[in-house]
Amino acid sequence: MEKTVKANEPSHASATQRAFFSTRRVTPFFPQTQYWTPAPHSIQRDPEQSGATGNPPAQPAFPAVTAPAQAPTLATPGPSQATAICGAWQTAPDRDIHSQCVFHVQFVEAMQQSRDNIRAVGTPYSTAIADFYNTLLAAVSSTNHPAPGRAVRYSYSNLSITVSSGVTLSVPNFELILEQDLSTTRSHGAILGHTLTLNEMPPLSTRSQAEIERTLYHEMIHFISGEIDQLNRTRRQAAAAGGPPAQIVHPEFDSATYAAFQPILETALEPVFLRALQQYAPTLDSQRMQPLATAYAGLQWVTWLTEAIARIEEAVYLARRAGRGFTQTDLTALPQAWLSTAPYWRNVHVTGTDLQTHITSEQPYITQNILPIVRQIQTEYLRHRP
Ligand SMILES: [Zn+2]
Repeated sequence: MEKTVKANEPSHASATQRAFFSTRRVTPFFPQTQYWTPAPHSIQRDPEQSGATGNPPAQPAFPAVTAPAQAPTLATPGPSQATAICGAWQTAPDRDIHSQCVFHVQFVEAMQQSRDNIRAVGTPYSTAIADFYNTLLAAVSSTNHPAPGRAVRYSYSNLSITVSSGVTLSVPNFELILEQDLSTTRSHGAILGHTLTLNEMPPLSTRSQAEIERTLYHEMIHFISGEIDQLNRTRRQAAAAGGPPAQIVHPEFDSATYAAFQPILETALEPVFLRALQQYAPTLDSQRMQPLATAYAGLQWVTWLTEAIARIEEAVYLARRAGRGFTQTDLTALPQAWLSTAPYWRNVHVTGTDLQTHITSEQPYITQNILPIVRQIQTEYLRHRP
């Protein structure tokens, strides 16, 4: 999660700023079901009721992701090295240092276990993700722990990620930031451009290794999908400039695959922003509200497309990890609490508790009008997923 990012965003973002914001991907921590109300049934959009932007494209069901022949064998960790590494700080006045050290060692051990599990689960992306974390972990020190207000940074250069046969991404620079942020409003993880920030808080004593593993997989899907999208964009531009026809790879991560959904989702989002401005920004010139709502809906698209993809891929990952497949029924049943969580909404005029209060009040509208479109985007992803 980007913490205070909303307050810093200009209300009229330039194209450059939009591109910059589009790289901000958030995974805030929140109770799993706090804001989510299950949809009573799957809602189909009626062609008669569609707006000027039209209907989603006719959409065949996605082929069910099959269950593995047997549940993957997950890593069984050896005894923690925390006591051996951190023992020197066990007595006063070093107890805080001792705790920070223990939290860090346990987190790194959970990362190592996650790397091995991700490899074992065997999705189309798991080898690439496990290899990438293996590279990152090789530089991570067990003894140099972060502390509140003091993050530890690791810089990498000239990395490459082989996503699939013939598709290798070059990553000239990458940074891993490990932090211990005690605020519960801070995220578990976030990827911003080529920087991955992981919060070692809360400690392993109050959350599971599986939660960290889920976050690591999710953030790396954000990263890979963004890189693939950029690669395809570059190839299209080269083709348009007279080069050979663009060879598009991994259409499931290509934003062009989802172009038809953009105006539909933006149209559905606009009223939420408009009502927020009317209620919580009454001093705004009322003439500005509709254009602002339109602009916010446009900014929302880039955030939500990548989030919809990362969420559904993560859900498939968790199903395979548990030895299950993933079907249309699973998609319909998937809680998508992020849709009702303020950090995923971009609105510089309405922020903080006002924004969350508004989003919560919009829950029925979101369930009826927005969730079905997000599910269609996710269906499209699963149709293209290798
Ligand atoms: Zn995310």
